[in-house]
Amino acid sequence: MKKSLLAIVALLSAGAASAQTYAIQAGRLIVDAATPARGPSTVIVENGRISRIEPGATAPAGATVIDMRSRTVLPGLIDAHVHLTGDPSTPFWRETIDSNEFATLVGVKNALLTARAGFTTVRDLGAVGSSTFALRDAIAQGMIEGPRIIAAGGALSIVGGHGDVSGYRPEVNAALDPGGTCTGADQCALRVREWSKRGSDVIKITSTGGVLSQQGRGLEGHFDPAEIRSITSTAHRLGLKVAAHAHGARGIEDASRAGVDSIEHGTFADAAALQVMKAKGTWLVPTLMASTGLQDRIGKNIYTPVVEGKARTALAVWGRALREARRTGVKIAFGTDSGVFEHGRNGEEAALMVRLGGMTPREVLVSATSGAAELLGIGNETGTLDPGKSADLIAVDGDPLNDAAALTRVGYVMASGKPIPMR
Ligand SMILES: [Zn+2]
Repeated sequence: MKKSLLAIVALLSAGAASAQTYAIQAGRLIVDAATPARGPSTVIVENGRISRIEPGATAPAGATVIDMRSRTVLPGLIDAHVHLTGDPSTPFWRETIDSNEFATLVGVKNALLTARAGFTTVRDLGAVGSSTFALRDAIAQGMIEGPRIIAAGGALSIVGGHGDVSGYRPEVNAALDPGGTCTGADQCALRVREWSKRGSDVIKITSTGGVLSQQGRGLEGHFDPAEIRSITSTAHRLGLKVAAHAHGARGIEDASRAGVDSIEHGTFADAAALQVMKAKGTWLVPTLMASTGLQDRIGKNIYTPVVEGKARTALAVWGRALREARRTGVKIAFGTDSGVFEHGRNGEEAALMVRLGGMTPREVLVSATSGAAELLGIGNETGTLDPGKSADLIAVDGDPLNDAAALTRVGYVMASGKPIPMR
């Protein structure tokens, strides 16, 4: 029974990828961001997978030739922190009006924008209802264009925390309750199992307060350590990783000690918190671009007073945690928090990681390819251009191993073997 089901899934995914053979001719080829680039090479793609890589510009009989001889071809990029079903221009009260179905369609628009920006995989860390599950499945079945999505669904939060709904009349808060709050180890374990049952690929928790919610209880630790331990052990037993939104230093430390797989933002991480992250092997996903979203909107009467105050506090230390994390030797995975800023600008994170975080362009590219693939647990499928892996590749103008901004000059994208229409 199980075997026949797998065969059906294999047939479905083969249907999604093009049966066509492609010869992508590269001027320069980065097979693995951690190793030196190659000169002129051709990547042969068959049935949606990389079948082989040949030196020079070649073209097997019957192949569709993609001429990228003036560009650098590299693995498709991975953004480990997006919110595809939300847009930054949307005022907070719109959640009282917009349906989950509408959010799904916002996600269809943003999935294409994100793929065009060179991102062939994203991890979506928070959306309403089942919107990202529908989006993920439609893309995987080849119905619409977009990146592969590793989806959390909703987030686990304390009552009145960042992932709960606050700021309205109590009866309105209750009506908008996303069903993700929990109190105590048992109830938190139950929530993990509920999200697993609904279709989550990863568990997202808001382990500290957050900037853009209407909760006014600051940015430090919210969950009790015993609650987080219950979440991580329950999730890990189900084969699910845990991504922890965390700003305050002690909240970061608690979450890392309790075994979460990544700290999202990590804004106020201090030496003690970073030492725990290093010892526990916890990844940092810096989301520097989120602060450009704040910067563009602060002082303009867009945010409510409670949000405005938190935004100013977070902006004051922009980039500091990444700089210290790199010095400490904490593992870093590329992630932007798109949705807080405009989708499609994800690649701008790379230059910020160099400028504010002190990373080299090569370190940034590793974090956005093989590094993020490792965090997401999909290193066998994507992250490098190896025969047998999914044909996730892009072409950019310039050399991203020397100039991180080259990642914003994307001229061609193939996601899971499908060429993405660029306009
Ligand atoms: Zn986020």
